[in-house]
Amino acid sequence: ASTARTQSMSAAELEDLDRRHLIHPHQRAAQHERHVMVRGEGCHVWDAHGTRYLDMTGAANWLAQVGHGRPELAEAAARQTSELEYFTSFDVYSNDKSILLAARIADLAPEGLDRVFLTNGGSEGVDTAIKAARLFHSRRGEPDRTWIISRRFGYHGVTYGAGSASGFDHLQFGAGPFLPNFEKVTPPLPYHREMYGGEDPTDFLLRELEETLARIGPDKVAAMIGEPVMGGAGVVPPPDDYWPRVRELLGRHGILLIADEVVTAFGRTGAWFDSARRGMAPDMIVMAKGLTSGYAPLGAVLMRTDIGDGITEDQGFAHGFTYFGHAASCAIALANLDLIEKEGLVDRARQVGEWLRDGLASAAELPHVGEIRVVGAMVGIELVVSRDTREPLFAGAGAATAELRDVHQVITRDYGNTIVLAPPLVLDRDDAARATRAITEVLARLDGDGGLRPR
Ligand code: PLP
Repeated sequence: ASTARTQSMSAAELEDLDRRHLIHPHQRAAQHERHVMVRGEGCHVWDAHGTRYLDMTGAANWLAQVGHGRPELAEAAARQTSELEYFTSFDVYSNDKSILLAARIADLAPEGLDRVFLTNGGSEGVDTAIKAARLFHSRRGEPDRTWIISRRFGYHGVTYGAGSASGFDHLQFGAGPFLPNFEKVTPPLPYHREMYGGEDPTDFLLRELEETLARIGPDKVAAMIGEPVMGGAGVVPPPDDYWPRVRELLGRHGILLIADEVVTAFGRTGAWFDSARRGMAPDMIVMAKGLTSGYAPLGAVLMRTDIGDGITEDQGFAHGFTYFGHAASCAIALANLDLIEKEGLVDRARQVGEWLRDGLASAAELPHVGEIRVVGAMVGIELVVSRDTREPLFAGAGAATAELRDVHQVITRDYGNTIVLAPPLVLDRDDAARATRAITEVLARLDGDGGLRPR
């Protein structure tokens, strides 16, 4: 289909072409419907039929920090593309925007993290961090430190490295073998206290981690990776003492800690970097999404000075993607960070979270709502068959999400039995109220099988 054809194409034609040619990630064969988005502005997007939706998900993928359709970012892209669209940063080459961006990230970062490796997105960042951790140990004379610890229900991406760290079995079915020397431990999901056999969750998890290290041999472990607040698991903040105690244990054994902040960085949780205020003190931070608000594919791995220096000594770091430091992506990222700063969006995320929490106060009392978790502008609404048993109500999240989109024109996302919100940080009070009213109305009609009673 030529561009000219696409511009004049009807919604039905687009949907038909989509079904014939475009492979969609995570789509089940039975899902024939399509929602083709063609325009965005602020917190709203329009589909090819001209229907306007309130985007409560950051483009259904936890980004869009500055909102859709910002001319400032379009101008940054146009300016850079006409000046210098691309020049490699391999070997001795570089470009001004990738340098400025690396310095800017280092400026925003916690003390001691100041070396930046650029990627196209999150999965590549996770792969890069894993490779860097192993190489760092190897160059220091510990080549047997290869094991990577992660958590069940952690999401780190889908390449073979990141996919080996991700804790969802369905991502691996039929596509194995994945990488050896990856071990999963139990995640901190305090609402599901049954997982910890009556013990304090952090005590349980630290004991399990210690036993895991003892079984593998702590001197064989390169790194542990985790999201400061688990996103795909349903927006789950850990108990306050979890990361400080994990950090201390890993430090005792010389094991690196990698914070996967692909979702949480750049304001999403009300901080530039969420790990910085959770006592995680990571050795590396992987970031993507909010770095450009989704206006261009870009990710980064920020590392401790000595790790950056360690992996680049001798023969250097034999790793790099063609689009490392893509000049246009970096120019967009710089303009995006300017907007986040100028418009105070990091603080605003906390305000957005308060509006959403207040608006969902009565929903939190509904019989099939187990728990509502709010972390900055990120919300998880966990649905249960019954509040007593806390048994997950899986069908409910999908049914509610479809109803919210198709009847209320409010886009949310379902992750297992949890409905997730991660709106643009520019969301205003009226739209927050509109979204929470719609969500409350729909959840009030949920039945114990995950169906919706008629209105
Ligand atoms: N890590 C986390 C926490 C994520 O949420 C994601 C994507 O959603 C990734 C890594 C993978 O990033 P990407 O899809 O850009 O490869």
